[in-house]
Amino acid sequence: MQKYFHSVMLEKENCKGCTNCIKHCPTEAIRVREGQARIIEQLCIDCGECIRRCPNHAKLAITDTLDRLNDYKYTIALPAPSFYAQFGPGVMPHHVLGVLLELGFDHFYEVAVGAEAVSAYLRRYLDQSQRPRPLISSACPAVVRTMQVRFPGLLENIVPIETPMEVSARIAREEAMEKHGLKDEEIGVFFITPCPAKVTAIKQPFGERSYVDGAISMSSIYGEVLNRLNSTGSNLKSTLSPVQGVGWGKTGGENHAIKDHSLLAVDGIHNVINVLEEIERGGLYDIDYIEAQACTGGCIGGPLVPQNPFVSRVRMESLLKELGTRGEQELNVPSDDQFYRLSETILPRPTLKLSDDVNQAIQMLEEVERIYADLPGLDCGSCGSPHCRALAEDIVRGSAETSFCVFKLRDKLQQLAREIVDLSHMQPPAMGRVANGSKEDAKKDEFME
Ligand code: SF4
Ligand code: SF4
Repeated sequence: MQKYFHSVMLEKENCKGCTNCIKHCPTEAIRVREGQARIIEQLCIDCGECIRRCPNHAKLAITDTLDRLNDYKYTIALPAPSFYAQFGPGVMPHHVLGVLLELGFDHFYEVAVGAEAVSAYLRRYLDQSQRPRPLISSACPAVVRTMQVRFPGLLENIVPIETPMEVSARIAREEAMEKHGLKDEEIGVFFITPCPAKVTAIKQPFGERSYVDGAISMSSIYGEVLNRLNSTGSNLKSTLSPVQGVGWGKTGGENHAIKDHSLLAVDGIHNVINVLEEIERGGLYDIDYIEAQACTGGCIGGPLVPQNPFVSRVRMESLLKELGTRGEQELNVPSDDQFYRLSETILPRPTLKLSDDVNQAIQMLEEVERIYADLPGLDCGSCGSPHCRALAEDIVRGSAETSFCVFKLRDKLQQLAREIVDLSHMQPPAMGRVANGSKEDAKKDEFME
């Protein structure tokens, strides 16, 4: 069986089995059994919806800490564009990046620069590609995983282009090797991440390797960066921070950088799923490109950002205005198209099948339909499965029982109660009446009169 890495984990001690998370998981990857949530690893896309929804803080994302910088001779910080929008008015990218150097990084490379380079390649790609429309962005790993799990037929619509994170990491790594004569393994590249999906994309990349070595969550270093900004400040005077690349941090930013095509931007994983369903039904073929992000508002709404996404959005907009006044900048990025191409084809993920044997699967499906028709159809989730149909499937797979449904359990108890009442009226034949029959009936059954 294939091994999966997941950044999103369950903190068992905190889980109260409340079932809040199961209703919001976009891939129905959670079940609650024996009072504990369980994540089905084939289905989880590390979107972090359950982290947002759990009232008991029982879901968390595993990320790296700054201690990991000690594992490398030379370290590079890769801040996502959304990181800039976490700070108050007047805080510019060079302030934030200067503080990252003070925290122990030897160097930084802005993912905004990689995003700007990817935008330029995307424009060329959209002009030339004959692939079926609409093409879909490869930038949000949670969306790509959703398609691997739920929409395998649409995988060929994903543009075969590396993400800004990977492009930036590769440029930064190759520059450091050339400039400082370092070996690949001596360099540690750390992404400052807004989400667990990016962590998973680093540990289990879509391409043949990730150029990133670790991911540090924005919320985990935010306090320290803020303290230093307020006390010592930063020595950096300016940074590249290209405006279109920085704009990728919010919904619509990627499309804004592409321009001149028929474009659609969708954010929020459930909205993304609605759009993918529409494409599956044959719609939206008049759209050239879809920017799809799992988080509402884009990466500024990621589960690992410290700031309220509506506040970040305002900050991002005023930052973009400010950066826009500086005019176009020359970026030293690779011009070879091949550099941006994804090295591997994105394949479907094996999901939960009823059976590998077709005949058996058909029989099991009929059994699912039969059980489902007998369930109340309220989709209440109290059985620990996301809805009644999922419970029917779980029963047929052998991981649940009909009595997990509280209504079926109540019916069973009522029936049991009736039987107990009947039994309570029974007496041994020698003493007189028996249940459901008269003394005379019993006599008739057994004796000639
Ligand atoms: S991270 Fe997303 S897909 Fe995974 S269990 Fe949580 S809600 Fe479901
Ligand atoms: S929208 Fe951005 S923050 Fe949210 S899951 Fe996708 S990549 Fe991560």
